[in-house]
Amino acid sequence: MSAPTAERAGPFLHEQARAIRDERFGRRVFVRGVVEVSSYCRQNCHYCAMRRDNGHLERYRLAADELAELIIHHRPVGITDIDIQAGEDPVAVREVVLPLVRELRRHTNLGITLCLGTLSPNEYDRLRDAGGEYYVIKLESGNAAHYQSIESPGTLVKRIAAIRHLADTGWKVSSGFIAGLPGQTPAHVEETLDLLAGLPLAGCSVSPFVAGNQTPFASAPCGEIELTLDCVARMRLRSPHWIIPAVSAMRLVSEDGYVRAFNAGANLATINLTPRSAQANYPIYKHDRIIMDEARVRSAIAEAGCELSRVGISEYAHSQAAIGIPHPHPDTARREAPVMRSAQRRMSLGATPERQLT
Ligand code: SF4
Repeated sequence: MSAPTAERAGPFLHEQARAIRDERFGRRVFVRGVVEVSSYCRQNCHYCAMRRDNGHLERYRLAADELAELIIHHRPVGITDIDIQAGEDPVAVREVVLPLVRELRRHTNLGITLCLGTLSPNEYDRLRDAGGEYYVIKLESGNAAHYQSIESPGTLVKRIAAIRHLADTGWKVSSGFIAGLPGQTPAHVEETLDLLAGLPLAGCSVSPFVAGNQTPFASAPCGEIELTLDCVARMRLRSPHWIIPAVSAMRLVSEDGYVRAFNAGANLATINLTPRSAQANYPIYKHDRIIMDEARVRSAIAEAGCELSRVGISEYAHSQAAIGIPHPHPDTARREAPVMRSAQRRMSLGATPERQLT
């Protein structure tokens, strides 16, 4: 049995979206590394095995100095940005993420993305001042009643307020949702796409639902890959400037789902750098995780006829502000305009690998 689906849009939509992506970004795919630094979480989302009520999970926090060593000295060549991810865990923010961000800022030119949940304005400010630039904060559902029924963090209104606050205080923000969540209707999908298109975002994602063990949704079916890929294409067509990732769940629900995401307009891939000892205790899904290592990511990008971008996500997102793409911070845009025009130029010319150098 599969989850309710919105009407299929079809391959033609994917072709159009790919053409828009090519026009805007070329065939270049941003490549970031991700480290999952803590599996503690104070939230209780029904769709996630890291929810606080899951007493079966062996929780961990990684050490900032070990992560810094890994990222500074042993990251794969080609990574321009690093995504530091965790459950909603203020202790990890304080004791792991802040020192790690400071170290990375001191020793590398990597763009720094953070995905740490809904925090206080003071915590966002400290993270930005330490060197954070791009914040990922997903809605998962854009329907307020559905959002509440699946116990997503806080309320939808507060989550949207957090997105606006981040954008108003200098962050580039990415959001997103899950396609095929239990209880989601086709109308919810439309509502969510509309809501996301109206927010001050630099990027957005859609993942097919994959059930997590020890969650209220453990026996629910996976989201459909076709619905997910149609949403990728529709996001690209509606917001051509967005950075839109291919996500590992696409490959989990469909063998060629990850590659097809690039063919539907996606332009970001993520290489997992979390130490192997911790990966099993960062349970995004019930099924065995498919870890997108460097070889898998490079092979998928090549199979889609694309190549690695040498310009980083943060650098590019700032460039959009500088050239007047919808953005809420004209002051920031003016300040950064010369740098970003240059990034934009390199993007269109084929770019040099400056961002990846330590
Ligand atoms: S989805 Fe995020 S906030 Fe919700 S329980 Fe999982 S880690 Fe926590």
